[in-house]
Amino acid sequence: MKYILQIHTGSWKDQPDEPERIVRKIEEVSSRIPVGKVIIGWSTDPLVYRKVGEYLHGSGTEMILWLPVFSETNKILETDEALDVFGKRIATPVEQVGESFTFGCFSSRHNTRKAEEIYEQYFRECGFDGVFLDRIRSQSFVAGVSGVLSCGCERCRKAFLQKGVDIDEVGKLYETKGDAFFDMASYPTNGRFRLKDEEAQRFFEAKEEIIADAVTELCLHFREKGLTVGLDLFAPAVSRFVGQNYAAITKQADFIKPMLYRRTDAPAGIGYEYELFGKAAPHALGYRRPAMDRAFLETQLDAVGQISCEKYPGIEINYDRELVRTDVDYITESLSAIHARGFEGAALCWNLMQAPDAHIDAVAGLERNPD
Ligand SMILES: [Zn+2]
Repeated sequence: MKYILQIHTGSWKDQPDEPERIVRKIEEVSSRIPVGKVIIGWSTDPLVYRKVGEYLHGSGTEMILWLPVFSETNKILETDEALDVFGKRIATPVEQVGESFTFGCFSSRHNTRKAEEIYEQYFRECGFDGVFLDRIRSQSFVAGVSGVLSCGCERCRKAFLQKGVDIDEVGKLYETKGDAFFDMASYPTNGRFRLKDEEAQRFFEAKEEIIADAVTELCLHFREKGLTVGLDLFAPAVSRFVGQNYAAITKQADFIKPMLYRRTDAPAGIGYEYELFGKAAPHALGYRRPAMDRAFLETQLDAVGQISCEKYPGIEINYDRELVRTDVDYITESLSAIHARGFEGAALCWNLMQAPDAHIDAVAGLERNPD
């Protein structure tokens, strides 16, 4: 099994760690486990990537740029903001882990072009072998019902209408039905839920199609430049709410990193997102929060296994008392379940620089003795 290491160098204008410190960390980990790719970003300081890239290329490891697409970009340039289906701005959620999680419109060609321009302007000369597209989704229940019932801007209204969905009607439907809008006819663990209301269901399907189209175009753009393209995806169980359909969105991707985060109390954490759904629509029928145990992880791996591109399920390697309560047992349990699948590998997320030594020891131990 090959590993992907993920390293956060801070947001665009943040000062990253010393390049030497990053190289030392990668070197230390690579001497113990086989590393195939390093996902690193998204500070725009070029020096860190040149130095890290020099080391990685000398050891035959790919350096992949961590590039957010529909959020964060608004911090360095003008983007088209997302609205909810009621035509209102989506309340900005509390900043978490130093990131704003404010989302732009996902049907906006202007927005995807900006992501392409950011690569050209800041990263093209840095020696990257690929890009890892993050935030390729709508807002989640982090911003309440408005978050998932987006985007309702003029551009999206047209895009949805082409797919037979009238955004005004979707807004009215929610206002009439309230929580019952989200009543489930079925909610399988692979996340391909069916809402009882056909119109509400169709909204989520159309959102997936619009986002998949935008992501496919981006993948093609970067692949034409000879870059490897990876995608950061919500866990299957919660992916449909944010408009990610694994089969549709991965058509032109080289690899995916499903965020199988069972211990994260922040956006994309599976239990966290489930909890927010429960809070946003407490009376919706057919909702139940599964235990975040190994059996649940297996259901997510089953769903991921249906996809044909390379699969590197992501688990949290860093620790934080408030946000990421990981431990050695959790890491061992998660990686041994992934190991048993025979996928290409696993991704150690989302910031190797904050991984306790004991966690790295656990990964190395499992690598020596996978059974
Ligand atoms: Zn829009």
